[in-house]
Amino acid sequence: MELSSINLILVTVEDNFKFKGRRRILALELKKKGIVNLRILDSIKNTPRHLFIDPGLSEQAYLDKALPIENNQTISQPFTVAFQTQLLDPKSGDRILEIGTGSGYQTAILNYLKLEIFTIERNHDLFRITSKLFKKLNINPKKIIYGDGFNGLIDSSPFDGIIVTAGSPSIPKKLLSQLKVGGKMIIPVGKETQVMTKITRVGKTEFKKETFGNFKFVPMLKEKD
Ligand code: SAH
Repeated sequence: MELSSINLILVTVEDNFKFKGRRRILALELKKKGIVNLRILDSIKNTPRHLFIDPGLSEQAYLDKALPIENNQTISQPFTVAFQTQLLDPKSGDRILEIGTGSGYQTAILNYLKLEIFTIERNHDLFRITSKLFKKLNINPKKIIYGDGFNGLIDSSPFDGIIVTAGSPSIPKKLLSQLKVGGKMIIPVGKETQVMTKITRVGKTEFKKETFGNFKFVPMLKEKD
């Protein structure tokens, strides 16, 4: 291997001052857009998003936009990740179920907040690639599951929070039943575009619903592939 290609590999797998600087600017941009939770802004500043995407896209890693990942999926826009996390408003140690592991970036943001994370991905390639990446980056979710998120994870329930990172046509009842009383689910609901929805379980059979504007997500699909 030539020296130039060795350098290239080192540059792409590591963090550096250029990327750190860009993350600070991104955090400021998100603050202007309404992310006020300082721990979440800190997690944006400290999470190397360029390591969750194809190295060929590194230069775009800190633009506030969604980017393609494997299998026609996307890594969500940083604002969307921060906004959903802010709505979830997790406390240190909370048990959180994430549906749609994807690139693992949202998981990494949650991991920085010291949560107990259970994450489900239905696509086997993504499940495999991202599980490996977590090991490499020392991100340690409690469980990474290859499965259909519509079923949730009954054996590990109830959860303090559930965060769904793909667009769901409706609110899955099974997921609601896996929330603690007082727990919340943040889920984009809709087919073509989605309405960001927060459901709080206020009692055993009582739920409160709030909405927070339109977003665009890849669809949540049933079963595994
Ligand atoms: N949190 C991810 C977002 C990835 S896009 C990130 O930060 O990169 C949404 C992801 O949801 C895709 O990886 C897709 O494969 C996955 N997905 C879609 N339907 C699903 C389902 N029923 N169960 C689990 N994951 C699902």
